[in-house]
Amino acid sequence: MFKKILIANRGEIALRIQRACRELGIKAVMVYSEADRDAKYVKLADEAVCIGPAASSLSYLNMPAIISAAEVTDAEAIHPGYGFLSENADFAERVERSGFQFIGPTPESIRIMGDKVAAKQAMIRAGVPCVPGSDGELPEDPVQIRRIAKTIGYPVIIKAAGGGGGRGMRVVHTEAALINAVQMTRSEAGAAFGNPAVYMEKFLQNPRHIEIQILADKYKNAVYLGERDCSMQRRHQKVIEEAPAPGIARRLIERIGDRCVAACKKIGYRGAGTFEFLYEDGEFYFIEMNTRVQVEHPVTEWVTGVDIVRTQILVAAGEKLPFTQRQIQMRGHAIECRVNAEDPYKFTPSPGRITLWHAPGGPGVRVDSHAYHNYFVPPNYDSMIGKIIVFGDTREQALARMQTALAETVVEGIKTNIPLHRDLMVDAKFMAGGTNIHYLEHWLEHRAR
Ligand code: ADP
Repeated sequence: MFKKILIANRGEIALRIQRACRELGIKAVMVYSEADRDAKYVKLADEAVCIGPAASSLSYLNMPAIISAAEVTDAEAIHPGYGFLSENADFAERVERSGFQFIGPTPESIRIMGDKVAAKQAMIRAGVPCVPGSDGELPEDPVQIRRIAKTIGYPVIIKAAGGGGGRGMRVVHTEAALINAVQMTRSEAGAAFGNPAVYMEKFLQNPRHIEIQILADKYKNAVYLGERDCSMQRRHQKVIEEAPAPGIARRLIERIGDRCVAACKKIGYRGAGTFEFLYEDGEFYFIEMNTRVQVEHPVTEWVTGVDIVRTQILVAAGEKLPFTQRQIQMRGHAIECRVNAEDPYKFTPSPGRITLWHAPGGPGVRVDSHAYHNYFVPPNYDSMIGKIIVFGDTREQALARMQTALAETVVEGIKTNIPLHRDLMVDAKFMAGGTNIHYLEHWLEHRAR
């Protein structure tokens, strides 16, 4: 087992990984930007290295600074968390070339999955069902583009091969709007992701977002840890997640889970990963794979009892998966609310000093957050300041616990989206379960102030 791991991230996930290291008796080295000097996990770290100024491009995305920090502290492995460099194949390669273990899949796996066109092609070959669409990148010729759209049938969605974080997508309803939309998505994708390649998919009208968590080791053992429902989204960004997905038959989940496991074995995948699907009328359609730990991993941890971050570390150290598929049992229901420092109505970011922080507790309540009383939320990063996760024997109990947890939570000094979560947890449609990916946006449009 590793003696020392460097955590190349910040915020709640940095703290989460640090906790996993502690439990395993591994020393944790934190890297931090000047804006995160006072963070709790930096103070708690065995060692901490400042890697640059606040701007992520100069700190959390600064590969040479992170690798030198690993060198000077004698770390053996680097955990990239999520976001930042976690899905950067060049970083994974540089980490391994510098003699450190990257806690994640191989650079090749990251590279394939990071290109959504290549990922889809790999999935089709591995027998994973995909959204009908263009076979690969769209050609330049407008006549051919129109022909592809006609075959797929409108509405279609134009997506950037290098896209991520809900950006680089455009829905097209009519042929008249098609070519312009393709050109706009191309130029945006070139500017934002350095890759102008775009592809086309059928735009599913009322799907749910269902994803399958997998874990794999270096010896081609792989398991799936059930599913998560992440349909409650705003601007393609997840707001609430839960496990299991309400109302989907277990045999459908088992069938798609087995396909994902088979695909992992086929591509030689190792570590944690998530297959994201759209689900409509009993069918799953692959949209992308995330080759890292996800924000919403705690809901799966709770219903399966598997510590995903710990297992990531174990398999990166060369251990075999400590369980087989038959040992994975799902029990109860878990829900996660992402707590963002933002205006709950206008969604403008609300960084600043937290003058009062009171986190909820009690049976079945978990809070993953790096925030504390008097913590200053820097304006430089993502607005998520933590997650409230609840568990119940049933979905009804989980909902009741979340309502109580949200009622107990007090955050002052900055605005948060807690009032939004409070409203959603008593919304009749959400409470009934099974809302689709458009539900939250519609709800927000018609929301009573
Ligand atoms: P990103 O990597 O930016 O998160 P995804 O491909 O995972 O992009 O898509 C994000 C979200 O966009 C999905 O959860 C879904 O809400 C919507 N979306 C993507 N593809 C389609 C599609 N073919 N039909 C309908 N909605 C889609």
